[in-house]
Amino acid sequence: MSLNAARCTGCSQLLADAPYTTVRVYCAFCRREHAISISADGQRVDFEAKFSPQRLGDWFRGARAATLASDVGVAVGACEKCAAPLVIPRAAEVALACPHCELRIAGPAEKILYDLWTEPYASVESGKDSQLEFKLALALASHQQSAGCAHCTGATPPHDESVKCRFCGSTAWFQANGERAQFGVQIEGTAYGRPYENFVNLTEGESHLRGSSRLEASVASGNQTVKYVGIGCLGLFAFTLLITLVTYLFISH
Ligand SMILES: [Zn+2]
Ligand SMILES: [Zn+2]
Ligand SMILES: [Zn+2]
Repeated sequence: MSLNAARCTGCSQLLADAPYTTVRVYCAFCRREHAISISADGQRVDFEAKFSPQRLGDWFRGARAATLASDVGVAVGACEKCAAPLVIPRAAEVALACPHCELRIAGPAEKILYDLWTEPYASVESGKDSQLEFKLALALASHQQSAGCAHCTGATPPHDESVKCRFCGSTAWFQANGERAQFGVQIEGTAYGRPYENFVNLTEGESHLRGSSRLEASVASGNQTVKYVGIGCLGLFAFTLLITLVTYLFISH
């Protein structure tokens, strides 16, 4: 997840300043073209990292597809139409211009651009004692980390030299900044009033996210039901009062 120095080596002014470089990226899934602003320190300008659970689920699916295709690329944003990750191949040549002087910062995307794969997160509140935050995270073989196969959820031992899953044959590992890496899902927060932390493979992370947000939706609609029942009771009470009043007036005349 590389990032350039904060200051220009030519004029020593801030590389994060405007004007920015516009990079054109096509969504690999729906082909929509996006014009993305990137500052000369390699950061995407105006990226909102807080996603809805639905949108993060789409992001996880994009990460799985990229893993299976063996090149996860550098993610520079999410498609506005289909929410798929917008990706530039890691080796693609990219050039950014210093906003203050003539200096050009050029090189392969993975060295020049800040990778957004692990930035988006979604927070899900399912009941008053459960709140979890979901996020994509990298497992590095050199750190003895492993998340498991993104396709069949089989174990993928970090010391296994193969890039393929030995159960289903899908690509399980990719190269990121010269490291053997794979994506997993980091889940953190509180579950039923207790601290919760877990790192799981993409498939499990996705179904956990879906399960939690379904629970969130049902908790929310449960609250709605209580409200409607409340309004209903109030209505019934008013109606009864009216009938009683009418009956009283009728009898008293
Ligand atoms: Zn798209
Ligand atoms: Zn400069
Ligand atoms: Zn597998």
